Amino acid sequence: MKVLPEGADPMDVRYNVINWVHRSTRGWSYGSSVTDPRTGEIIKGHVLLGSLRVRQDFLIAQGMVEAYANGTVADPRLKEMALARLRQLSAHEVGHTLGLAHNFAASYNDRASVMDYPHPYITLDAQGKMDFSKAYATGIGEWDKRMILFGYQDFPEGSNEGAELQKIIQDNIKMGLLYLSDQDGRPPYAAHPYTHVWDNGNNAVEELHRLMKVRETALASFGEKNIPVGAPMASLESVLVPLYLAHRYQADAVAKSIGGVNYTYAMRGDGQVANTPVAPQAQREALKALLETLNPAFLALPERIIALIPPQPLGYSRDREMFRINTGMTFDPLAAAESSAANTLSLIFDPMRLARVLEQHARNSQYPSVMEIFDQVFDPFQNVKDLSGFQQEISRLSEKAALQHLLQLAGDREIQQQVSALALQKIRQLDSVYERLLYKTDSSQEAHYRYLLEQIRLFRDNPGQYKVPPMPALPDGAPIGCSEDWH
Ligand SMILES: [Zn+2]
Repeated sequence: MKVLPEGADPMDVRYNVINWVHRSTRGWSYGSSVTDPRTGEIIKGHVLLGSLRVRQDFLIAQGMVEAYANGTVADPRLKEMALARLRQLSAHEVGHTLGLAHNFAASYNDRASVMDYPHPYITLDAQGKMDFSKAYATGIGEWDKRMILFGYQDFPEGSNEGAELQKIIQDNIKMGLLYLSDQDGRPPYAAHPYTHVWDNGNNAVEELHRLMKVRETALASFGEKNIPVGAPMASLESVLVPLYLAHRYQADAVAKSIGGVNYTYAMRGDGQVANTPVAPQAQREALKALLETLNPAFLALPERIIALIPPQPLGYSRDREMFRINTGMTFDPLAAAESSAANTLSLIFDPMRLARVLEQHARNSQYPSVMEIFDQVFDPFQNVKDLSGFQQEISRLSEKAALQHLLQLAGDREIQQQVSALALQKIRQLDSVYERLLYKTDSSQEAHYRYLLEQIRLFRDNPGQYKVPPMPALPDGAPIGCSEDWH
């Protein structure tokens, strides 16, 4: 790579260009090419690399360590990690200019492609200290080499090119390299157990547990040393957001094993397995791991951290990268917990996921049933007695959100109607459970049960008119901007 020569125009078709652009937010970057419409030959590659993208990585690292233990100069590892990401991102966008599509299964194959969306792989060393040295892969991966071989190899005169290309694909399959793209990795209802965005490793459950441990370690030391001396204490919230929600994308990855299907882009004659449901035990482990992210002890921020964050000072304001609060201006740890819980619940209660659970259980009763999933979600909510008052409140918020999901499933005419029927069945069960528990508890819990019973009654009286209260949204995590054209 060179700096563009003096006087050269970045639009000049003779130059392949990486444009470093400043935008109003940390937007997506893009890689594309100018091709000859007659032959498909790529004439020029151009990349737009967003400069603010680096900010999110810096923030993630900033939350993980006492980044400003020395005052105003940041721990050099923050910048190193952010730059490692930019190098990886540059390779990714250049990959697009060469014609490569996303491969969101590459993290399964040990970072086999720069065309995946990587999450920083931050580890704990033998002393339990944060290690950023493996945050991002360097260089290109095995899959990328295979794709360039496929797209660019010149075969000797007289070769059967079609057969040679098929051989490359067969070798990819033999090497165990997975390839699945946007449609498989992105949607909230996606089904593949190994194809995710912003994930790591080849076992989503193990990686979630590992990440929860990293998050716990970072939260234990989180405090004023995470921001520079002289910065508003309120800015701690911006640093806290990516740390508190460190599990969000890995949770998404875990959810795909529930009602999950391991499949390939099988073609007739290539010998690949077309589809196999994720094994029952793996589905149950995935659900169990996801439910750990609903545990009030996991969601409750320590008093120590809550006490550190004041409202924004004059001249600053809250933005879309912070928690959506209900407290007007003060930091809202319940809203933070609620948004994380609502995200996990929306993954579990996805109607298409549940339709797959229903189908798999109908075909083979060894698989978890929809009702088993409902029971697993709701049962822990009834054990609030041993929780602190703060944790009880988190449990109540999660239970409200979970019931709202059930009501939504029950009233939705667009989804698998047996999923709706089972949701109605579970609501009926809960109705009698809440009636029974109502008189055996304290007034906060009684108010909660009466609220849930009232929601059920409102739904029953007029299902068509019943509106589920809006679920709190998570702060933006991925790059911000047009979601139809991500890179
Ligand atoms: Zn891309």
